[in-house]
Amino acid sequence: MKTIGLIGGMSWESSAEYYRLINQDMKQRLGGHHNARSVMVTVSFEEIKALQHAQRWDELGEHMKQAALQVQQAGADFVLLCTNTMHRVAPVVEATLDIPFLHIVDPTAEALRDAGIRRVGLLGTAFTMEQDFYRGRMLDQHGIEVVVPDTAERALVHEVIYDELCHGIVRDASREAYKRVIANMQAQGVGGVILGCTEIALLIAQKDVTLPVFDTTALHAQAAVSRALA
Ligand code: GLU
Repeated sequence: MKTIGLIGGMSWESSAEYYRLINQDMKQRLGGHHNARSVMVTVSFEEIKALQHAQRWDELGEHMKQAALQVQQAGADFVLLCTNTMHRVAPVVEATLDIPFLHIVDPTAEALRDAGIRRVGLLGTAFTMEQDFYRGRMLDQHGIEVVVPDTAERALVHEVIYDELCHGIVRDASREAYKRVIANMQAQGVGGVILGCTEIALLIAQKDVTLPVFDTTALHAQAAVSRALA
């Protein structure tokens, strides 16, 4: 079994989900007292969040590079960055590592392809919904078109992530608001919705909506377990 390397802390609420999902999945696949071999480096989210909102992506790249090197030195065989947003600097991380990097878009795209979906809605931070690093990879490498909510809805989705979910706060009113945003995207004819922020599954589950949901945390975690056993 290979050792899974995790860059966590963005936020720790979702890193805890990664840890739980990876170990649960490994136990399910191997039985007994099996769990995943893993190492996690946790960064300071207060610092990261401030740099994100100041759009200081070069410095963020440096932070992720350092964390990735720590994970590699700790004995990981491959690395996951446990946040969609910070994949903005994935090229820097990949270039730093001597070991493989498992990009969060790829297992998500694979699940969409398996479901026959070529046009999909995306929920995430404003950075993920508005910049090109996420939508661009979906389209260029996987041929999947991404639709995002309108300006006011994007602001709402973003605020709920940072002000509530990253603090572990799950509100019914926010779930209802997200359901309305998803319904509006459904009306635009998308075949599914990507929960493109690793905390969103704390708020929205498949049972809440009729549109098929693609949870990036779960898909990324499953892909890590498959890679660890390959
Ligand atoms: N975990 C989130 C994501 O998947 C947001 C926190 C962050 O900005 O990294 O994008």
